[in-house]
Amino acid sequence: MAVDRRITGGTVVTPSGSVQADVLIADGRVAGLVSPALGLGSDAPAVDATGKLVLPGMIDVHVHTREPGYTHKEDIVTTTQQAAAGGVTTIFGMPNLAPPTTTLDTLNEVFDLYREKSIVDWNHNPAATDAGEVEKMGRTDIRAFKIYMVVDTGRTYPHPAGTGMHDHGHLLQMMDVIAETDKRFIIHPHDQALMDYIEGAYLARGENTPAGYASAYAARNGVIWDTAIDVILRLAEASNCPIHIAHMQTGRSIEAVRRAKARGVDVTCEVNHWALFLSTWHDVETLGPYALSYWVPDDAREAVWDGLRDGTIDMISSDHAPHTREEKEIGWTEMWSSHTGTPGIQYYYPLMLDAVNRGLVTLERAVDSAAFQPAKSFHLDSTKGRIAVGYDADLVIADPTETWTITNAEVLSRSGWTPYDGRTITGRIDSTFVRGEPVFLDGTVVGQPGYGRIAATAG
Ligand SMILES: [Zn+2]
Repeated sequence: MAVDRRITGGTVVTPSGSVQADVLIADGRVAGLVSPALGLGSDAPAVDATGKLVLPGMIDVHVHTREPGYTHKEDIVTTTQQAAAGGVTTIFGMPNLAPPTTTLDTLNEVFDLYREKSIVDWNHNPAATDAGEVEKMGRTDIRAFKIYMVVDTGRTYPHPAGTGMHDHGHLLQMMDVIAETDKRFIIHPHDQALMDYIEGAYLARGENTPAGYASAYAARNGVIWDTAIDVILRLAEASNCPIHIAHMQTGRSIEAVRRAKARGVDVTCEVNHWALFLSTWHDVETLGPYALSYWVPDDAREAVWDGLRDGTIDMISSDHAPHTREEKEIGWTEMWSSHTGTPGIQYYYPLMLDAVNRGLVTLERAVDSAAFQPAKSFHLDSTKGRIAVGYDADLVIADPTETWTITNAEVLSRSGWTPYDGRTITGRIDSTFVRGEPVFLDGTVVGQPGYGRIAATAG
């Protein structure tokens, strides 16, 4: 066996626990996990991971690269530079682009952009609103479709035409079509009819502020999320369509998913960085538009952590959603005109390591939710998501004991800011490897645009 590279002396986190082992890499795959004493492959170049963790790279199925169409915010190169620095080795992009990814032609155009520009492995989630196009796209290497249960009133962004629907018949029709493919249906839950009523009252009172927006979306214990998720779960049960629910953030909807799973509904779901680490009321008050996404009240946050720990929430995904400062600033006085969402892909895995250090989640469960569960749910689990012989050598070397401070100065996003600026955490990523090659080495992005390949496992 010709070994191309060794990672020596680290603690390797595997599905069955953590082991002291050298990782041997050949042809981009893990060729062996061996005792350091054996000295196997000792003539191959070595990366010293003594005292460090060797983790599977994160698979982030919810990423807004902003390319094509919104490259003043971000693009595929800058997104995947952040991925490399953040320990993310595979991204799935989202379809709210210009043009939106709603057809086989627009999907193929986006594939070409990734081939040219992505530093890490990639796939893309096109929107499912047209049955004929869904059938055609269902025969490609995509892993999932996406829709928003939103038809925006007066705003063309972030939900351009063809990416949203809130008609239940249309939703069931798309589930029926997707159920005939081997893809999963990712749904952004939203009850638009309820939200029109709720936000109308806030706007009528002149509460077009971060606090008003935060309160409206969380109103009545998150009713707009809960009713949407109840509908999604019932329609999934009626169609046998595998579904994936984005943005879990209420206790009641986590209960609903728990019950649906117990009944055998094929549902997976995700939590995003902001629901775990941002979006407290204090954040809303101090960061205003820069903290929103959504406000997650303290009791809901507890439920989210419980759901993540017990596996009801299968995975973590960044919902990386960068916007410029100008697009955020307006939100202090006109929050409904501000673009919502925050950049997150660069710091999610380190924040999870910090959560492990704080006793919020075990290391094994953190890694499971970052790598193995997304691989399993989206049919990549014969090549990605774990450190095991024969699997892609998508690896992260992390120092679990290093304490450091996140700053805007180190942000690689074109947007130039992070909501975590000034936050001190323990746990830092040193290096990231995609299929055995370094894309981030000792703190520097070294991966080249075009290195990334489509992540799609046959069969
Ligand atoms: Zn999103």
